[in-house]
Amino acid sequence: MDTQTVTLKINDRPVTVPKGSTLLQAAREAGVRIPTLCHVEGLSPTGACRLCVVEVAGTGRLLPSCAYPAEEGMSIDTRSVSVRRARKTIVELLLANHRQDCLYCVKNLQCELQSLAAEYGVREKRFEGRIRAYHQDLSSPALERDPEKCILCGRCVRVCEEIQQVGAIDFTRRGFDTMVLPAFNRDLSLSPCTYCGQCIPECPTGALREKSHLKQVWNALNDPDMFVVAQVAPAIRVALGEEFGLPAGTVVTGRIPAALHRLGFQRAFDTNLAADLTIMEEASELIHRLQHGQPLPMLTSCSPGWVKYIEHFYPELLPNVSTCKSPHMMLGALVKSYFARKEGLDPAKIFVVSIMPCTAKKYEAQRPEMASPEGWRDVDAVLTTRELARMIRTAGIQFGRLGDVPFDEPLGIATGAGDIFGASGGVMEAALRSAHFLLTGKEDARVDFEQVRGLAGVKAATVELAGTTLRVAAVSDLKNAGAVLEQIRTGSAPYQFVEIMCCPGGCINGGGQPLPRSREILQARANAIYEIDREKPARRSHQNTGVQKLYEEFLEKPHSEAAHRLLHTHYTGRTRY
Ligand code: SF4
Ligand code: SF4
Ligand code: SF4
Repeated sequence: MDTQTVTLKINDRPVTVPKGSTLLQAAREAGVRIPTLCHVEGLSPTGACRLCVVEVAGTGRLLPSCAYPAEEGMSIDTRSVSVRRARKTIVELLLANHRQDCLYCVKNLQCELQSLAAEYGVREKRFEGRIRAYHQDLSSPALERDPEKCILCGRCVRVCEEIQQVGAIDFTRRGFDTMVLPAFNRDLSLSPCTYCGQCIPECPTGALREKSHLKQVWNALNDPDMFVVAQVAPAIRVALGEEFGLPAGTVVTGRIPAALHRLGFQRAFDTNLAADLTIMEEASELIHRLQHGQPLPMLTSCSPGWVKYIEHFYPELLPNVSTCKSPHMMLGALVKSYFARKEGLDPAKIFVVSIMPCTAKKYEAQRPEMASPEGWRDVDAVLTTRELARMIRTAGIQFGRLGDVPFDEPLGIATGAGDIFGASGGVMEAALRSAHFLLTGKEDARVDFEQVRGLAGVKAATVELAGTTLRVAAVSDLKNAGAVLEQIRTGSAPYQFVEIMCCPGGCINGGGQPLPRSREILQARANAIYEIDREKPARRSHQNTGVQKLYEEFLEKPHSEAAHRLLHTHYTGRTRY
């Protein structure tokens, strides 16, 4: 007998799975869907919601399939009367103390509770429960919590604790009064929440949502005195199509400026140009640090959730973080300086909207450091991919019928290096493509650095650069980031340069991206990013003619006084609690 596998029956059909698999995994292997609410693949099972119950065939004994191991010879029924009755009752009980204001809910038509009620034929309110009255936490600049819609599945808690290792929220109180809250019942804005938004796609209901900037953006578009400019992050163009029924990984780059123009934006710029600019500044900073004995490894700074994490948890390592602003903040600053001067516009009358895959960028745009000395913000509003899709639908624009148009000049040109910023490892690879040139003035034959690609959480590589051996790593999610920071703290980190992205897999998996998400969807988005890169005539940031022109006409050279004033920033140490 094979001791590494077990064979059991699911709905009378045999299935063999690795020993240690749960009944839920066995059912999935057998092609049987079991509904879940509290379950998150890969994280610790809690068996809390019991929706995934299955019956030991013919016995009436119900087991939570997400937490119960598959055993040799078991026979499991997933469709019996008692299973269906139990699941329906669980949904009815969840609805009993739920406000059910679906029409007004941000999750309407995408809510797992709503879908389950439909799936199990809930047609009447059998149980009347007491509705809890809780205040909504609107304190954060990035996401909002509505505890009245919380069904206590705990998915957000586990993602925050086990993937991000932040622990900003947890269960508190007991029994009917149980809630999910930040420590000491304080507002989220007073917690170490990084605003990564990774809990939002996990939330099955409307209890967690991004802070919407739609109203401000519509108001700006309707204001005849405002010149409204949009800029679009790399990860949007491989994900927005999903909101309109296109397969994951469909490249819709040209349709985005087309839609933005129809919405009334006067210019649609490409954040990828600023990604190329970031490389010029960041790679130059790395070379400077290497040559002048400054703190190493240098840590990238494009991911605002990650920056907030290090500010809270490892403030003593802030000197290791690159001083570069993230690409959309750089572009915002350039729109209100370089572009405003070129066009003879008053910067105070320009409204910059960043279209981002990320909720933390909403917070970043409001940081006090991200403003000019004259007082105007670099970026005025941030829309997630989901919010842009909502705008396009509201305006009645038929996305599928849009033709391709280019981004606008003079901030619309990008190389493949800028495009790959959207996937974990992309910033590192883009930097490696230009570092040799910046060191020696000569082109490097290498353009593909496959070692730092892929969805793995830590990707390390050793690269020879003009006679120097550079040890680098690309890291994604904050648990992995924390492990690298511990190495740096104890002096055992072998790297000189580390890219860190807050979200698992990078911006393709940002908290503002279309729902639902899965590993296959992320892989498709990542593949599409590298496909865009492969097809670009220029694939190195220093070859970006728009960036070259910017330095010639305005910034002079990387790390010039003007570049420092507009493109670099500083950080603030914060407390953990
Ligand atoms: S969370 Fe779901 S069930 Fe509750 S109000 Fe929103 S859409 Fe309706
Ligand atoms: S936004 Fe991120 S850090 Fe904040 S509660 Fe959600 S998962 Fe945790
Ligand atoms: S906020 Fe959402 S994810 Fe978190 S416990 Fe409540 S329902 Fe679950």
